[in-house]
Amino acid sequence: MSISSLRKIVGAEAISESEVNKVLYSRDMMTRGAIQLRQGDIPCRPQAVVWPKSTQEVAQILKWAVRTKTPIIPYGGGSGVSGGVIPLHGGITVDMKKMDTVESVDPKTHTAVVQTGIIGQHLEEALNRQGWTMGHFPSSLMSATLGGYIAARSAGQLSSRYGKIEDMVEALEVVLPSGRVISLGGKVPAYPRLDPRGIFVGSEGTLGVVTRARIKVVPYPEHAVYRGISFNRLDDAMHTMRRIMQSGLRPSVIRLYDPLDSLLLQWGNSKEKQSQFSVSNLVTKLFFPSFLYKKISHKTFQQILQRPFLADQVIQRLPIEALLILGFEGDEDVIEEEMNVAKHLCKEVISRDLGEEPGLHWLKHRYSVSFKMPALLADGNFVDTIEVATTWEKLPNLYHSVHKAIGSDALVLAHFSHAYHEGCSIYFTVVGREPKKDKELKRYDRVWDHAMQTCLKNGATISHHHGIGLLKGKYLPKELGDLFALFQDLKDKLDPHNIMNPGKMGLKS
Ligand SMILES: Cc1cc2nc3c(=O)[nH]c(=O)nc-3n(C[C@H](O)[C@H](O)[C@H](O)COP(=O)(O)OP(=O)(O)OC[C@H]3O[C@@H](n4cnc5c(N)ncnc54)[C@H](O)[C@@H]3O)c2cc1C
Repeated sequence: MSISSLRKIVGAEAISESEVNKVLYSRDMMTRGAIQLRQGDIPCRPQAVVWPKSTQEVAQILKWAVRTKTPIIPYGGGSGVSGGVIPLHGGITVDMKKMDTVESVDPKTHTAVVQTGIIGQHLEEALNRQGWTMGHFPSSLMSATLGGYIAARSAGQLSSRYGKIEDMVEALEVVLPSGRVISLGGKVPAYPRLDPRGIFVGSEGTLGVVTRARIKVVPYPEHAVYRGISFNRLDDAMHTMRRIMQSGLRPSVIRLYDPLDSLLLQWGNSKEKQSQFSVSNLVTKLFFPSFLYKKISHKTFQQILQRPFLADQVIQRLPIEALLILGFEGDEDVIEEEMNVAKHLCKEVISRDLGEEPGLHWLKHRYSVSFKMPALLADGNFVDTIEVATTWEKLPNLYHSVHKAIGSDALVLAHFSHAYHEGCSIYFTVVGREPKKDKELKRYDRVWDHAMQTCLKNGATISHHHGIGLLKGKYLPKELGDLFALFQDLKDKLDPHNIMNPGKMGLKS
């Protein structure tokens, strides 16, 4: 492989073969990679990292890759959590972040044309300055790119109102593995009979590099209202979510926290506790009075995580309520009325209106929870999130079955955060600890295997928005059936030399 010929394409300053970059670009935010790193293992590194500045450069890089049979790994922010950017067979990592221009915002069609290397927060700020929003707010807003959103079929916190990324993309520019540049989607939405965008949205860098997108934008909402509602029974709360979504209401926020996750949210809510707020403090406090808790908290927490089923049995029996956060945004009069209808639906079962405070608290801290995970990892535990989805009638069973399937290996909490007319996703957070270092990865893999098998058995989808990557690849053929065979055929046809992100999404390595 001749890196010098690649250097001629992008310029010497836009390519790096440094060891630091090889390590930095060896993984994403997948927990398995973090455990391996903690154990001193970096299984794969790219040969080099390049930063293209234009679609033409990307096209030339891909042509070069075909000539030299070199794997190409598209890279956005590296915030993925499924191992999508791991260079399984080495090759060149193509970091898209230099292609970050908002090229136009069109007030007539409510659309914007944007290069895909832009970080989500920068895109949102650029739109806000002109009075628009994309309505897409993943918790990784400050570290993920538009290209990563599109590749992984991302969902933001307000997905129930604005949809997922696949609902926001109107047109794409893609560089195919051959180096050919194609445009998908016309100048205005044309409602085509065959929609080729769907092939590339969610293809996780396996079919080409997405370089530009035309996305929907909406006027920045003038008003918003929030509320917290507490339910005695989680199943009643799930039923109420369904009633709200099927009544035709489109809340911007509709998030239901299971009892343990509700406690975390509410405990974090009380001002005097915020400095000590963490999963470990909360779990230990549940079991011990405060005079003991201060002395034994850390060690006890570690022991609980080693045998989580004992803690789970106790938590299941505590009279803890489930918290629903509701929000509406838009015209002041309309959203007041929408909130009234939603509150009325909540009253059909035993529930308590907690006022706007829990909703405002959620709004203020909505990005911070995800970023508490590194501290738990650094302490020798594993922590991960498993986001699955199904239709409303299967939802309670899916929740209870997954909880049961993995509860002996990890402490499980969950929220239901992306709700639609037909169903909802469940976002499980799992925290565990394996004292024997040689068995750590086995325990972690077991959690995933049990969760994925339970989903497939229950007719659920194995990933609502984090993508498949390396982590869930072996389960995708079973979920997709004949469609997966078609996907592999398409991959073989478009990418006969298998240069694009080989070995991901369960495709041939
Ligand atoms: C703390 C935290 C919170 C998160 N919260 C959310 C959330 O709320 N919602 C959500 O959806 N996700 C969330 N994620 C997951 C992650 O941010 C998303 O998957 C995101 O879409 C990845 O974007 P990225 O730019 O970082 O992609 P990367 O991690 O760089 O890449 C992800 C995949 O996309 C491919 N890819 C990247 N750019 C391109 C391109 N231009 N063309 C073709 N393929 C490309 C890569 O090859 C890889 O397969 C979270 C992650 C973290 C760490």
